[in-house]
Amino acid sequence: MAQAKYTTHHGMVDILPDEAVKWRFLEELIHREAALFNFEEIRTPVMEQTELIVRGLGQLTDIVSKEIFSFSRGEDNYVLRPELTAPVVRSYVEHRLDQRGGTQKLYYIGPMFRAERPQKGRQRQFHQFGLEIIGSSDPVADVEVIAFMIHIYRKIGITNTVLKLNSIGDPACRERYKEALKEHLRPNLEKLSDVSKVRFEKNPLRILDSKEEEDQPFIQNAPVITGYLSEASELHYSRVKELLTDLQIPFSEDPYLVRGMDYYTQTAFELISPDLGAQDALAGGGRYDLLVEEIGGQPTPAVGFAAGMERLLIACDELGIILTPEKQVDIYIVTLGERARKWGLSKLQYLREKGISATMDYSGRSMKAQMKDANREGARYALLVGENELNEGMFTLRNMAESTEKGVAFDQILNEISCSSRASS
Ligand code: AMP
Repeated sequence: MAQAKYTTHHGMVDILPDEAVKWRFLEELIHREAALFNFEEIRTPVMEQTELIVRGLGQLTDIVSKEIFSFSRGEDNYVLRPELTAPVVRSYVEHRLDQRGGTQKLYYIGPMFRAERPQKGRQRQFHQFGLEIIGSSDPVADVEVIAFMIHIYRKIGITNTVLKLNSIGDPACRERYKEALKEHLRPNLEKLSDVSKVRFEKNPLRILDSKEEEDQPFIQNAPVITGYLSEASELHYSRVKELLTDLQIPFSEDPYLVRGMDYYTQTAFELISPDLGAQDALAGGGRYDLLVEEIGGQPTPAVGFAAGMERLLIACDELGIILTPEKQVDIYIVTLGERARKWGLSKLQYLREKGISATMDYSGRSMKAQMKDANREGARYALLVGENELNEGMFTLRNMAESTEKGVAFDQILNEISCSSRASS
């Protein structure tokens, strides 16, 4: 086959029709379940000011230092959003959503952009759905976020997951822990990776998140942050664990889990799937009690998560979970001759107005080719129309699954089709 002259960028993927139906199924499920939890949708632009992302996520994070797509135009700096927590908080502050009263429970679905090295489960344009509860410091909010995340995967049938949980405390305990971590790492500073050396002074916590081989021995026996939590942080963490236990949501504590953005405080979590291979994180999130203020709003506690949709779809493939019914159309009008084609076209319109999905051949193919096409399209019925049928006002309606045929007048068709859908539902 000839090579296409124009292709998508590396790591950016077309979602073709056979895949798009799965996406729509998934998106509809998320909208439906979010409504069940009383969350409201928010949509923000795909581009944000660079400063927002740098400030929100942290200068030294991998995302900001290596992975953002940014450019400028005139005086303005743009970045393609790499995640949505900072943009949602920007929107919350910009539009004074606090004035709507109560806690804002917002969810989103959309594309994100990170210039990572593409591989299975890692793209440069990928999609996330996520949730942000802004305005509550209560552990109940943390647990609602986690419960919604788990609920979506369970609903789809992905139950073989591990919820990793940690607390990274408030800034004061984190300072104490940072010192202890630096003490631990200092004797081997020269042996750490270059990235970790840079992080050592400015942001040592992020060393725990390093994927570099040479850092691993020093990370593995590092002190754990949970040993440095303040009383309030400890109480928050133990309440989260207690509530998760009450809801029978199993979790596994991982004291080295720090997550990839600087804005997290207190609770941090990740949902892992053993069915995913190297890129095994399905979703992640946590509390970010300081971000609203950092971005210019009033001090406002918040918690959220983001989930990768491509990885969810990969997990479905691995587990044999089929997200959509087979391709199907109620009726395929098979036409022979010009008059029949014209008639067919007008009847398509009529049927669709009645809520019956209908299609026909667009290229004047033989009857045999049209029947083959009707099969390919998953038609439940084929309606055979030629000169004779039009003259007599009687048509052959073929039930494709049962391979049976029946002579019908056109106005009987609706009845035939809806009787059979009632019988099969
Ligand atoms: P993060 O925003 O980094 O916490 O990521 C949340 C989730 O988004 C991850 O658990 C992945 O499922 C997904 N994700 C993150 N980066 C990518 C990527 N480059 N390609 C595909 N999915 C991603």
